[in-house]
Amino acid sequence: MTGPRAKTCATCGRGLSPREVYYRFSLVLQGEQDAIDTPGGGTGSEEELALLLKQLEESPESPQEMEEQVHWERSGVVCGACRSLVVRTLTPKPEAAGPH
Ligand SMILES: [Zn+2]
Repeated sequence: MTGPRAKTCATCGRGLSPREVYYRFSLVLQGEQDAIDTPGGGTGSEEELALLLKQLEESPESPQEMEEQVHWERSGVVCGACRSLVVRTLTPKPEAAGPH
């Protein structure tokens, strides 16, 4: 006999009771860049490209970490408390609005 597998909150690691409300999430962080900053108004010369490649080669990060920087994907469930935390983190703070 196997019941439904116990769910665990992906953020705090707490085991979720079957009677508890939980929130399913799916998050994708995809690295993008609209413009490459070329100091000195360069036009992306071969020299600059070579420098960039050199920096990448010298980077202490593993290829897997590099890959995760470009595409990072997670999905799972979170508990109610962590849901509010995630929502707060991803909601931009209204800068202009004063305290109410
Ligand atoms: Zn949680």
